[in-house]
Amino acid sequence: MRRIGIMGGTFDPIHHGHLVAASEVQARFDLDEVVFVPTGQPYEKGRVSPAEDRYLMTVIATASNPRFHVSRADIDRDGPTYTVDTLRDMRAVYGPSSSTDLFFITGADALNRILGWKDALEMFRMAHFVGVTRPGFELTDDHLPAHSVTLVEVPAMAISSSACRTRVADGQPVWYLVPDGVVQYINKRGLYRGSGNDTPV
Ligand code: ATP
Ligand code: MG
Repeated sequence: MRRIGIMGGTFDPIHHGHLVAASEVQARFDLDEVVFVPTGQPYEKGRVSPAEDRYLMTVIATASNPRFHVSRADIDRDGPTYTVDTLRDMRAVYGPSSSTDLFFITGADALNRILGWKDALEMFRMAHFVGVTRPGFELTDDHLPAHSVTLVEVPAMAISSSACRTRVADGQPVWYLVPDGVVQYINKRGLYRGSGNDTPV
């Protein structure tokens, strides 16, 4: 059986909290690969950086890890991103459940809101979910179907993309919060220089 991890996110920008979570779950579940899937562009223009910038930052951040890959599935699909569609696309790429186990990785904040996602119960049938600890959020599966989720403690990284965006807007450094190549990409493209960067997604 092939074992594939899926790390969904806006990745605006990708940071070391995302990377540590993916690396820990890869090792703990002996995953063959972890696929990072940046979300599509939301309808409201300007709320997040262009999909192509978020995709490229994710590629830059993951390029050195032979088990990390990036999928364009969500950014190339029209309309809003729903994880149930991401899972269907990953099934199509990686094969049926008879040959491939999918593990969808979420931080504690996302796991707490997951029952509000489209077709949530179908999602739980399509993949095993892995909830990871995140500073500032309680990690619990009390609200979720039995045996659908495994909770994993990962090294505490008190980093969020929204805090990184605010730091850039305020002229504060993001070195060591995001990979070096991502700092350089943010500067090259002039991302996050305006105001209104502080809302988490
Ligand atoms: P924002 O502040 O804009 O919401 P974010 O840091 O939460 O950004 P997302 O792209 O929204 O990043 O998150 C993608 C996934 O990564 C989610 O499942 C989220 O819970 C998880 N995640 C993000 N940061 C961390 C972290 N520091 N530790 C563990 N999990 C994290
Ligand atoms: Mg978030």
